[in-house]
This record gives sequence, C-alpha cells and structure tokens, in this order.
Amino acid sequence: MGDLVAGRTALVVGVANKRSLAWGIAQRLDAEGARVVLTYQNERTERDVRRLGETLTGIAGFLPMDVQDDAQVTSAVAGAAEMLGGGIDVLVHAVAFARAEDLGGRYVDTPRDGFQLAVDVSAYSLTALARTAEPFMRGRDAAIVTLSYIAAERAVPGYNVMGIAKSTLESIVRYLAWDLGPEGIRVNAVSAGPVRTLAARSIPGFGDMAGAAAARSPLRREVDADEVADGALFLCSPLARGVTGHVLYVDAGFHAMGL
Ligand code: NAP
Repeated sequence: MGDLVAGRTALVVGVANKRSLAWGIAQRLDAEGARVVLTYQNERTERDVRRLGETLTGIAGFLPMDVQDDAQVTSAVAGAAEMLGGGIDVLVHAVAFARAEDLGGRYVDTPRDGFQLAVDVSAYSLTALARTAEPFMRGRDAAIVTLSYIAAERAVPGYNVMGIAKSTLESIVRYLAWDLGPEGIRVNAVSAGPVRTLAARSIPGFGDMAGAAAARSPLRREVDADEVADGALFLCSPLARGVTGHVLYVDAGFHAMGL
C-alpha cells in the first residue's frame, strides 16, 4: 500500500474477470490511493465485474460501456466523472476484440468487416474515449494508458488483424499525446508480454507464442499481470509526469531481441 495516486480518480475500462490486465491495474490504482469506477461490457460480465470491484477500498461505482456504442461511451464517461466528484485523473483503456475466424490462418484472408470490427473495438475506441473524457480530464495533470503488444511493430503469425489494430492503437497514442498535451493530459501505452487472460486464449497458438517469448527474452521468463499493472501505474503516476506519447515495454525485454 502506497500513495502514488492518492486522492486521484480513475475510470478503468476492460475488466472481464480476475485475470484481466485491467483488473490488475485497477487493484494497483486502488492500493495506491485512487478512487475507481469500473465499466462492464454487458450483462454477461456485470456480475463478475461488480463482485471483483466491490473488494476495492476506493470503488466509486460501476457503469455499462460497450465501446462500439457512442451513446454508452458518452453516458458512462459522464456518469464516471459524476461518481468521482466531477473529474477524471486516470483513464485506463484495456479493450480488444477480433472475430475468432480472423485470428490464426493467413492475415491476407481477413475480410473487410472483420478488419473494421477489430480496429474499431481495439483501436478507434481509444479515440472516442479520449475525446469524450477530455472535458473531465483537462487541467488535472491527467493520464490515459492503453495496452498494446509487440505485434504492433513485428509480424506475429496468428495475431493477424489484431497486430494491425495494435499498430493503429500505438499511432493513436502519439496523435492523442500531441492533441491533449496542452490540456495537461498525457497519453501512453504499455506493450505487455503474453499473459494468460481470456482475450489471450482466443489467439490460436498463444501457448507457443508465450513459451517462445519467454525462451528468447533477456529475463528468460514470461511476465505476469502484476508486472504489467506496475508499468501502467508508473505511467498514471506523477513519476511519469514528463512522459507522453510513449510505449513502455513490460515484456521481460523480448522487444530488444533480434532472434
Ligand atoms: P481480457 O480480460 O479478455 O480483456 C479484454 C477486455 O475487452 C474484456 O473486458 C472485454 O469485455 C473487453 N471488450 C471487448 N470488446 C468490447 C467492447 N465492444 N466494449 C467494451 N469492452 C470490450 O484480456 P486482457 O488480456 O486483459 O486484454 C486487455 C488488453 O490487453 C487488450 O487490449 C489486449 O490486447 C491487451 N494485451 C494483452 C496481452 C496478453 O497477453 N493478455 C498482451 C498485450 C496486450 P468482455 O470480456 O465482457 O467482452
């Protein structure tokens, strides 16, 4: 327990269950003194998200948000700001989706609608969230953090359209950093090594991918959700007050290797 984000307010988008990277981040923000609002995508996950969130000391509320629904994004962001006393200091975006048939196989076979769906949910959503949250974040030394993966910049067989979505996401981080910097809002990404979550299980060959990354990483191991959460906490905290438009690798050093 510390006070790195004591008295700060956070909206965390992307908790599905106890393995979610967003849940690890919510717990770290809570342990360091933040008040937290969690969103859930639909009624299917609402119960789990509420059960988890109610264990947080600083939980301020729960709201529905499907990031493809502009009206829900608007009402959830405004609702979160109200629950948090008027302003949002930290926005965590940990959301991704692609159809199962568009992962695995050959990227070249991705149809237009599968491409649009993956990029809309996994990348454009950060734009919509940032734009909607801007009025509640400006002038507060605020931070936006999203989650990326090395497939944004290298071809990872099987990751396919999600790799393109992550490239887009990292580019969005840089453009948002430029737009929102004058408002006192920093925008960064954590590029996480493979962690066994619900979304990860939908990637064909994920176990092999994680094993290969561990064998080739300087630290010779996988990373866990707590390490990813600590990277995100750093970017949300005053320790990173001079950092924006950045991709922070929490991947046991895998990104540094050529083979
Ligand atoms: P996760 O627990 O399955 O989280 C993914 C989240 O995205 C879920 O909460 C899911 O909600 C949500 N989501 C999907 N479509 C949505 C929509 N239309 N509206 C709102 N929420 C939606 O898996 P995770 O691994 O923690 O993923 C979090 C982020 O980390 C993702 O961006 C992922 O690409 C990134 N990442 C993960 C890894 C890894 O190895 N696990 C590595 C690098 C980066 P539902 O489950 O309710 O649909």
